[in-house]
Amino acid sequence: MTSTADTNATEHGSEIYPPSPEFAAAANAGPELQAAADADRLAFWDTQAKRLDWATPWTQVLDWSDAPVAKWFVGGSLNVAYNCVDRHVEAGNGDRVAIHFEGEPGDSRALTYNDLLTEVSKAANAFTDLGLVAGDRVAIYMPMIPEAIVTMLACARLGLTHSVVFAGFSATALRSRIDDAAAKLVVTVDGQWRRGQAAPLKPAVDEAVDGAESVEHVLVVQRTGIDVDTVAGRDLWWHETVEKASDQHTAQPFDAEHPLFILYTSGTTGKPKGIIHTSGGYLTQASYTHHNVFDHKAGKDVYWCTADIGWVTGHSYIVYGPLSNGVTQVVYEGTPNSPTEHRHFEIIEKYGVSIYYTAPTLVRTFMKWGREIPDAHDLSSIRLLGSVGEPINPEAWRWFRDVIGGGTAPIVDTWWQTETGAIMISPLPGITATKPGSAMAPLPGISAKIVDDEARPLGAGGNGYLVLDEPWPSMLRGIWGDMDRYKDTYWSRYAEEGWYFAGDGAKYDEDGALWVLGRVDDVMNVSGHRISTSEVESALVGHHSVAEAAVVGAADETTGQGIVAFVILREGAENTGETLIAELRAQVSTEISPIAKPRQITVVPELPKTRSGKIMRRLLRDIAEGRDLGDTSTLVDPKVFDAIRGK
Ligand code: ATP
Ligand code: MG
Repeated sequence: MTSTADTNATEHGSEIYPPSPEFAAAANAGPELQAAADADRLAFWDTQAKRLDWATPWTQVLDWSDAPVAKWFVGGSLNVAYNCVDRHVEAGNGDRVAIHFEGEPGDSRALTYNDLLTEVSKAANAFTDLGLVAGDRVAIYMPMIPEAIVTMLACARLGLTHSVVFAGFSATALRSRIDDAAAKLVVTVDGQWRRGQAAPLKPAVDEAVDGAESVEHVLVVQRTGIDVDTVAGRDLWWHETVEKASDQHTAQPFDAEHPLFILYTSGTTGKPKGIIHTSGGYLTQASYTHHNVFDHKAGKDVYWCTADIGWVTGHSYIVYGPLSNGVTQVVYEGTPNSPTEHRHFEIIEKYGVSIYYTAPTLVRTFMKWGREIPDAHDLSSIRLLGSVGEPINPEAWRWFRDVIGGGTAPIVDTWWQTETGAIMISPLPGITATKPGSAMAPLPGISAKIVDDEARPLGAGGNGYLVLDEPWPSMLRGIWGDMDRYKDTYWSRYAEEGWYFAGDGAKYDEDGALWVLGRVDDVMNVSGHRISTSEVESALVGHHSVAEAAVVGAADETTGQGIVAFVILREGAENTGETLIAELRAQVSTEISPIAKPRQITVVPELPKTRSGKIMRRLLRDIAEGRDLGDTSTLVDPKVFDAIRGK
């Protein structure tokens, strides 16, 4: 590991990386942000909302009288797509590249803001011709191609509420989401490129839509050119409709609380929930956070968020936040190892990516492949790194900064949820001195607490539940079709206090830095000690042979719960059997405590992950406790269990 001048490495938790003076001097965020938010939180958000262009100004910043359903920027109206596209053209930036598209087979395409305006206008006209009107729902089941983003923006432009369904989900998962939202239109592709092959997607839509009463049309982008069946009267080709439509379209404003999209959570803890987001508050916070957390400089930075539009990070940090800020960004269709494990680094080099936002699972995968792969590339354009989706293990954090970030790039570890709509807890680059593995502190304008069972706020050293004790602009407005579940899931735990229960455990360290410890459901209780899965996993990943680890608590007659661990080894690491297991148990014992030593450690070839790359601990718990598996519908590859069970 390269050591840097500004590193003050001592024991775990007190290792601090202050921002460099050069970065701080040029950073978008300054100390005045926090000062303004502390002085008057609502006035602060009033100012942030002015980042956007509004057709009608609001009369009230927040109406919380119908809690827990908020109204932000009451009486204001705006068009979300206008804010993401037209206004950049009107400001003279129409020739700026909005999207550098990199197809999996190696095709590439640049779309300027002028191009984006043309495409979105055509799509809006075509959707209108299909009879869609504001308030209708549209399901989007597409890979990462520009037409997917164009479709989202065309929906936003017309006030149609989109529901993006990850293109890797099954026909059954798609059908349940189409039915839940009663979507009238489904937009999809003939097929998608996956590892050099054209994989059909349209047949899954045919299966899903068969008998779905709400669906009037299926609009199909020709991505691969493979043969697909078409149903006369229902199916339409994009190139025969959208591409032939007029490119002139005037956006109408919608109310700040107009529903922008429904998105289903990733299902890590149970049946996915259809989270509802609206327009003005959502876009305000997406835009504010993208500008300040990523220190984004329009016209200079090349930004790449590696998420898929099928989950919330793609919505807020590929589409709405970045485009509202006039970003130039990379959109890549394929997997990180198509055709080789060099692909991401080649793309960073090719476009000069300066801001790279990804998930811990990918960082650990890169570590598993070995640093010689990124080391073969010039990654010097990178100036900021971001992480989202799970706690990032300190070992992975250091590797990310050293190997991808040249030992100097600040890392923003961003905590948020589908429900929060935008980043809530994160360091601010240029201001926050960071600690590997800690999300540090709530952003200016956001209020969070860590509390115990009795709602007592905890201070430094405290370990409990993460709550959001004040409403925020991009907060969810409900669960589609199930407001009881909305109230029950998020607002019943601390009903008296009126706090949002995030479902995550967290702690403050001695310096007051905030550490997210994982799902409350995943916190283990061993002989009366509360032990977090993420801490034990980090200790295991700290061993040089281990690439990834998943830890669960399984019922244990003597200790209440016993710790069961599953680990994947790094490429080239030797499985020395009992010796390795003993080393790993010793590692946990020294890093955390002898109480946290796993009862059982199994080396496995793969871990069960959701489509968004998160470890599904609840299914591993089913295995560890010898039960049948629960809902596996959002899993990447249900077959991993054969391999795990085989052990
Ligand atoms: P479901 O709610 O259906 O179980 P999910 O919670 O995985 O699915 P998301 O909304 O995509 O769906 O994920 C949000 C969760 O991801 C957070 O509650 C938290 O547990 C985890 N998370 C996200 N970012 C971070 C982070 N930076 N550090 C730690 N945990 C994170
Ligand atoms: Mg969740």
